[in-house]
Amino acid sequence: MKLHEYYSKRLFSEYGIPIPKGEIAKTPKEAQRIAKELDGPVVVKSQVLVGGRGKAGGIKVANTPKEALQHAEDILKLTIKDLPVRMVLVDQAADIKDEIYLGITNDRSARKPVIMASAEGGVDIEEIAHKTPEKIIKCQIDPLMGLQDYQARDLAAGIDLSRDHWRAFGKIAHGLWQAYINSDATLAEINPLVVTGEGQLLAVDGKMVLDDNALFRHPDLEGYRDLDVDAGVEIQAREHGLSYIKLDGNIGCMVNGAGLAMTTMDIIKLFGGEPANFLDIGGGASAEKVSTALEIILSDANVKAVLFNIFGGITRCDVVAKGILEALEEVNTNVPMVVRLVGTNAAEGRKLLQDAAMETADTLAEAAKMAVAAAKG
Ligand code: GDP
Ligand code: MG
Repeated sequence: MKLHEYYSKRLFSEYGIPIPKGEIAKTPKEAQRIAKELDGPVVVKSQVLVGGRGKAGGIKVANTPKEALQHAEDILKLTIKDLPVRMVLVDQAADIKDEIYLGITNDRSARKPVIMASAEGGVDIEEIAHKTPEKIIKCQIDPLMGLQDYQARDLAAGIDLSRDHWRAFGKIAHGLWQAYINSDATLAEINPLVVTGEGQLLAVDGKMVLDDNALFRHPDLEGYRDLDVDAGVEIQAREHGLSYIKLDGNIGCMVNGAGLAMTTMDIIKLFGGEPANFLDIGGGASAEKVSTALEIILSDANVKAVLFNIFGGITRCDVVAKGILEALEEVNTNVPMVVRLVGTNAAEGRKLLQDAAMETADTLAEAAKMAVAAAKG
């Protein structure tokens, strides 16, 4: 889960990282009020979860509250890389002398977090990483020992940071490390970390990505989720305990168990089809869960056929069959469906479906062939 700049910076500030004063506005009027309160030049910043907002016109400096109102009006109309701007951050503008990059992420091959810094921070950091990677100084962090003082000093020296700033830089690096590790983040990044005209270090931009698998440990951060980014159906799926991932094909799959779901996708491909999704309804699937899952699958307009592949263990096949029939009473559809049931109460389940004139198959290969043929029309 990605956090907006605003939330990332609030979190950073809880760890002692200096950030500009500012607030969120959802309307131009609010932006004007905030600018008035900040009493001086402000920067109006679109809050969307993509990079390159600056280059897309989503960040503008305003010298007066009236200008802030105007900029907010313009920015709130923007769509940046397909994401509508729904709020802006109005921050006290910084007098920027230098822009530094500072970030922490996981280095998977080293199986350790890595902290990175560059003297050439700012909007072109990707290009710098690509063309002149030697300008990015990296240092692996032992996850048990944590970031060490000497490592922060190595980074400061590596980017030729003036000695006056080393103490402040060290504090910020430690703060960022604490924010990263305590939030179970997979990325914590300040770009740019600026040196101001007054000689202060200030985190002007902030970005955090949290590990979804650890979110249950951070119920306070769950409230920061941006619903525009997590597509509606994926939220619906999560709320019902379903694992759903949309894919590009046209055969919807409903399967119990992640391994079985992957197998089902492979078999569909083997017979020349393309799966429209990965969907694991989990164990002990109730009728209600099945019907939600079907609704989710059918909400994808690309779906031309649906393949159910259920292995009955704890989950009873007749319960799943009932779930499918109940779901079909509610969702009106003429998308062809093929059901393959095997395991506990499979015969009962198949009978229920056949009585309702549904197509069933005995083997997965047979079911996949039928679904591929149905999807081709
Ligand atoms: P990003 O483009 O999404 O990474 O957004 P940033 O917050 O990093 O801003 C992009 C660029 O806008 C920065 O690199 C700065 O050059 C500029 N910028 C951001 N905030 C300020 C500010 O307070 N004052 C000034 N003068 N420039 C700013
Ligand atoms: Mg930035």
